[in-house]
Amino acid sequence: MFSRILVANRGEIALRVIRACHDLGIEAVAVFSEADRGAPWLDVADRAICIGPALSAESYLKIPRIIAAAEVTGSQAIHPGYGFLSENSKFAEQCRASGIEFIGPPVTAMDALGNKDKSKTVAKAAKVPTVPGSDGLVETEEQARKFAHAVGYPVLIKASAGGGGRGMRVARDDDSLASGYSQARAEAEAAFKDSSVFLEKYLDRPRHVEVQLIGDQKGNVVHLFERDCSLQRRHQKLVEESPSPNLPDKVRRAMCDAAVRLAQKAGYYNAGTCEFLVDQQNNFYFIEVNARVQVEHPVTELVTGVDIIREQIRVAAGEKLSFAQKDVQQTGCAIEVRINAEDPAHDFRPSAGVVKVWRPPGGPGVRLDTHVCAGYRVPSNYDSMVAKLLVHRPTRAEAFATMRRCLREFRVEGIHTTIPILQTIFDNEAFIAGKVDTTFIERELMPKKG
Ligand code: ADP
Repeated sequence: MFSRILVANRGEIALRVIRACHDLGIEAVAVFSEADRGAPWLDVADRAICIGPALSAESYLKIPRIIAAAEVTGSQAIHPGYGFLSENSKFAEQCRASGIEFIGPPVTAMDALGNKDKSKTVAKAAKVPTVPGSDGLVETEEQARKFAHAVGYPVLIKASAGGGGRGMRVARDDDSLASGYSQARAEAEAAFKDSSVFLEKYLDRPRHVEVQLIGDQKGNVVHLFERDCSLQRRHQKLVEESPSPNLPDKVRRAMCDAAVRLAQKAGYYNAGTCEFLVDQQNNFYFIEVNARVQVEHPVTELVTGVDIIREQIRVAAGEKLSFAQKDVQQTGCAIEVRINAEDPAHDFRPSAGVVKVWRPPGGPGVRLDTHVCAGYRVPSNYDSMVAKLLVHRPTRAEAFATMRRCLREFRVEGIHTTIPILQTIFDNEAFIAGKVDTTFIERELMPKKG
């Protein structure tokens, strides 16, 4: 087992990983940019190293600095968290070439699954249903139009390298296809330095359901059941829960098996997520793999009792998974909400600044993953998430009651947060009945423009 791990991330996930290291008796080295100097999670680490200026490209994304930080501190492994370098196979390769273990999947699997159109090829080979789409990349607008006419509008133009909802455009006719095609390409080029796009049939009001996977280097891959992440704003998740409400057990089982099959086909190990869309007839379609730990992993930790970060570290060190598929059970209902420093009353504009009051909820069945405390300055340079609030209760109705109580209790002053919109969501009848889809928030809860 490793004795020292470098955590190549910031905020709540850095703290989460540091804690997992300490639980395993491993030292944790934190890295920070100048914008994060003095940040609270750095105190919890055994050592903290400045890796550059506020700009991510010069610090959290700067591969040579991170590897050098691991080398000078004698760290044997690097945990990338999510975002930043977590899905960068070149980073993984360079870590391993430098004799430092990258806590994540093998490079071959990252390459096979890291981009959306390639991963669909693997899915098809593993007999996992995919959304009808262009076979491979679409190189011209003419080709895009041909596909759209063949499958029928609406279609979705998707960046192959896409993430975080970027590089994605819905087209409902030839005109919006023409503009959407060039917009998606330009956005993808700007965000990912890769303008390649492909097309998919745009499903009508689907649900987003994803399967958590974990595998070891001895060929064992197990699933930890599903999470429903249908509540999204602009394709960004706001609320996640497990089990997925109203999902027939048969479909759940088939989906979990499909995810395991896909991972095995790709020779996958460590943690990953297989994302699916589920249509109104409960047909499911693979959309992508996230080859890393996800923001919403604690939802699964609560219902299964598996400490995913701990398992990630263990399997990266070459150990066998500490459980088999038959040992994994889904107990009760867990829900997570993302609390972001944003102002929902003003189109969710970011709300950086000093947190003056921070009084989080607590009590039975409540978990809060956060790096924030009173006096902390939320920098404007990074992701706006300030906390993940989770509840775990025997039933969904009880989980909702506890979540409502927690959102009422939570007091934050000094910055705006998404707590008010979350309160509205948890009072919504359709959501209470589990009848939501990925377009729900924009359709039902957003003030209509004009
Ligand atoms: P990203 O990697 O940018 O998050 P995904 O491929 O995971 O992109 O898709 C994000 C969200 O976009 C999905 O959860 C869903 O809401 C929507 N979406 C993606 N593909 C489709 C599709 N074919 N039809 C309808 N909605 C889709």
